[in-house]
Amino acid sequence: PPSGADAVLDGLDPEQREVATTLHGPVCVLAGAGTGKTRAITHRIAYGVHAGILQPATVLAVTFTNRAAGEMRGRLRQLGAHGVQARTFHSAALRQLHYFWPKAVGGPLPRIIERKVQLVADAAAACRIRLDRNELRDVTSEIEWCKVTQTVPADYAAAAARRGREAPRDPAEISQLYAAYEELKRNRSVIDFEDVLLLTVGILQDRHDIAEQVRSQYQHFVVDEYQDVSPLQQRLLELWLGERDNLCVVGDASQTIYSFTGATPDHLLDFRTRHPGATVVKLVRDYRSTPQVVHLANGLLAQASGRAADHRLQLVSQRDPGTEPVYTEYADEPAEAEGAARRIRALLDDGTPASEIAVLFRTNAQSEIYEQALADAGIPYQLRGAERFFERAEVREAGAALRGAARFGANDALLDDVVDLPSQVRAVLSTKGWTSEPPAGSGAVRDRWESLAALVRLAEDFARARPTATLADLVAELDERAAAQHAPTVEGVTLASLHAAKGLEWDAVFLVGLAEGMMPIAYARTDEQIEEERRLLYVGVTRARVHLSLSWAVSRSPGGRPNRRATRFLDGLRPGSGTTAGTRATGGTGGIERGTGGSDPGSPRERRRRSRTPARCRVCGRTLTEAGEMKLMRCEDCPSDMDERLYERLWEWRAGR
Ligand code: ATP
Ligand code: MG
Repeated sequence: PPSGADAVLDGLDPEQREVATTLHGPVCVLAGAGTGKTRAITHRIAYGVHAGILQPATVLAVTFTNRAAGEMRGRLRQLGAHGVQARTFHSAALRQLHYFWPKAVGGPLPRIIERKVQLVADAAAACRIRLDRNELRDVTSEIEWCKVTQTVPADYAAAAARRGREAPRDPAEISQLYAAYEELKRNRSVIDFEDVLLLTVGILQDRHDIAEQVRSQYQHFVVDEYQDVSPLQQRLLELWLGERDNLCVVGDASQTIYSFTGATPDHLLDFRTRHPGATVVKLVRDYRSTPQVVHLANGLLAQASGRAADHRLQLVSQRDPGTEPVYTEYADEPAEAEGAARRIRALLDDGTPASEIAVLFRTNAQSEIYEQALADAGIPYQLRGAERFFERAEVREAGAALRGAARFGANDALLDDVVDLPSQVRAVLSTKGWTSEPPAGSGAVRDRWESLAALVRLAEDFARARPTATLADLVAELDERAAAQHAPTVEGVTLASLHAAKGLEWDAVFLVGLAEGMMPIAYARTDEQIEEERRLLYVGVTRARVHLSLSWAVSRSPGGRPNRRATRFLDGLRPGSGTTAGTRATGGTGGIERGTGGSDPGSPRERRRRSRTPARCRVCGRTLTEAGEMKLMRCEDCPSDMDERLYERLWEWRAGR
């Protein structure tokens, strides 16, 4: 192989090299957090491309989150492997569905509904079943579960019993609601989130010609985070593969955290049974975290039980010793958030870049108080799910309009009277609300105009730099810029749910809200659910390279009853909670710090904080203030029909709900 290929192997250990150089047949990598699984598969693709064994366009790499896909694309670019598709299952499926729908079904793809709960409420009304808010949410989750496990209404009761699921209502009623929901959807010509995968699977199953077309495009498949593959995603993968077995999967059973989508680590753990000739590689060297962090991670794993735990792998840190994890107990949640902000400030002053710091919580609803505390402390942050320029609704709409105009070119009446590029762009954007003068006042309308004006300026600059450029060139440029925004160029401290943090890493990680009731979350009741919460904490701990801070508040709000304790998962692991206080690495005893103060319940700032309604847009995550928007649970500006990226963001967002 040429030297480029050898260079790609340089940064790998012997086991990782085996993964990278085994380019044909089934390969399965079982390994713990931070052992370089993602690195091994990324280098594998780059090695294959440089060695001339893999054609970039025939490789489909599937990752679990949008950001992970973006990071992989960035890494591949750096390694000189261009043109490889790195996507989430959802985005890969949606692309294929858009493409093949006209041929398979006819007409454009139906609108994807976003407010599923409303549709379930309508279905309940049609069935004359009364559901309160919580029941509505539970029934909606149950319908989602049915769909990802490919359970039809008539089979619900049996399937739920078989999998030990506690039905939130009489199973017969759930079946009835589920059937009514599906019918409503058909009548209204809409599809839901799960339908995207279901319909893609359906089309590939029924239409051999289309399946063959997809298979001739993709020859090699790589799947990251395979422990969290749902039965439906697994089915899709099988359909993509057909009779072939050029499939490389990597995963860690101890990081299974998406059971609510029907995911089980069984697909990973049974890989060798289904692919008898598979090359199986285990990695145990942890390159990410210090011995102190790894010690805590191993301690959590040691207390785990269940099938995933039977296959746990002890991690061995390759890094120099660092500092002990810091455990802090606070009087209340605002005090906890302020405490975290203070420590973050100290890290920043010490030279840690903001992009190397993350605050991770169990549910998205917890983010609000941390946003406020960071804002009060003047610390820049970015919320996962919050909007970057090219993700804003108006920018995406404008992009779609420009793309359409570029495609129809001269046939577009709109462009008849205009030859230069900026005028064309202005003409197209005027259909999206752009005017030459800014609208009066401020607020959403003005924000929208500003975004479109920025696009016009971008077009003007682009045309100046490339006088012969066409609208199609501009669209390509916009796509490239949008993709570049996906690269990990973050400027602020990251705020994210534990679910959205999988696969990622930071120098300093703050695991907050670790009180019983939040961790494990109150509605986790069965042993299996509790074990999943423990794995979620394991995922959180293993995101940290060096600094790890774990905290909880004994009371929810200032002046409230101090009736909460630290999560049971830290019993015996944190100092003062049993026998194994401190860690081996330094022999220190550590100790729980007491967060100072607790906020004064009477201060004006505190009163303001408590009176705030933390309603957030379910699409972009922005805090909502208008009554109408709060009813919709989304900004007026955020579209109700979703394009690909929005859809992915929703997926990440809803995981932490
Ligand atoms: P997770 O289970 O959390 O997804 P992972 O197994 O995918 O973790 P990676 O993210 O690939 O782990 O790697 C963890 C860190 O260790 C990364 O910063 C990576 O660059 C680094 N790393 C991995 N392998 C090596 C190696 N052989 N030499 C040096 N650094 C490595
Ligand atoms: Mg990984």
